[in-house]
Amino acid sequence: VKTLGRNSFQFFDPEMQSSAQERLEVEKGLHQALNNHEFELWFQPQVNSADQILGAEVLLRWRHPDKGIILPGCFIHIAEESGQIVEIGNWVLLQALQQLAAWREQGLPESFKRLAINISPLQFMQVDFVDRVLEMLDQTGIPGLQIELEITENMLLNNFEIASNKMKLLKQRGISFAIDDFGTGYSSLRYLHYLPLDILKIDRSFVTGLRPSSELAAIVEVIIATADRLNLTVIAEGVETLNERSALMELGCNCFQGYLFSKPLDAKQFYQKLCASVES
Ligand code: C2E
Ligand code: CA
Ligand code: CA
Ligand code: CA
Repeated sequence: VKTLGRNSFQFFDPEMQSSAQERLEVEKGLHQALNNHEFELWFQPQVNSADQILGAEVLLRWRHPDKGIILPGCFIHIAEESGQIVEIGNWVLLQALQQLAAWREQGLPESFKRLAINISPLQFMQVDFVDRVLEMLDQTGIPGLQIELEITENMLLNNFEIASNKMKLLKQRGISFAIDDFGTGYSSLRYLHYLPLDILKIDRSFVTGLRPSSELAAIVEVIIATADRLNLTVIAEGVETLNERSALMELGCNCFQGYLFSKPLDAKQFYQKLCASVES
């Protein structure tokens, strides 16, 4: 069961087929979580090959009063199906921008580029999504250049025209786009070419156990070569070992995210790490 707390219930196990009753309870819990401020944002550093922190991916955590920290894998899919992900996702966006605004006031090191925020398909497809994001930028004074939105392949392919139009509007304000979990969905390289993307995130499944000259390395090499041709920056997810890091570097990937560098941190810890990384 993917909770860090004790007494976790089975309905929080994403592997379990949860009953309608259990789903309803999670939905109720999510509703309360929003009202009672039980959600938190954590931040996982993204680094370059010189170990400088370029930014962070924003990761949602639910601090449940009884069950402790609950990971998104246990509730995001339910929120997606119930539609609650729209409200939760908008909360995440605003909260992330507000946190960034606070850090900007305290001072951000020059190496810092962007915060990356996960956007769920349902949230992205809302008719007012673009307006919402632009409003939040205005409200918080954050330049679009400091924001990256992570979206997934499947969502793009299902609604190609609409998606690429929305992306273009947001890109006019400097926002960049990452394609998340690349290689795990119904990827079509041909579609990729037409989308206004900036960053390609290589999924952890291609990174775990990566060794030079292996079959896996051959696949990753093709992904990186394709990204290069499309002028996309590549970032590897789930990097846990030095061997994986060096294999990735050998293949031309110079941005990383993973436990090797840092687990997701709370806001305070992340800011401290960010500042410490430039002092040393
Ligand atoms: P993701 O977008 O692929 O995020 C990366 C996940 O990999 C995170 O899990 C992160 O903690 C984990 N991770 C990072 N480095 C390593 C590593 O070296 N090894 C391993 N084994 N895992 C690593 P997390 O935080 O549990 O999030 C799971 C998923 O939930 C995310 O996968 C994302 O799809 C979704 N998610 C998280 N926050 C949000 C959010 O605010 N909105 C939406 N829509 N989805 C979110
Ligand atoms: Ca992501
Ligand atoms: Ca990912
Ligand atoms: Ca993933």
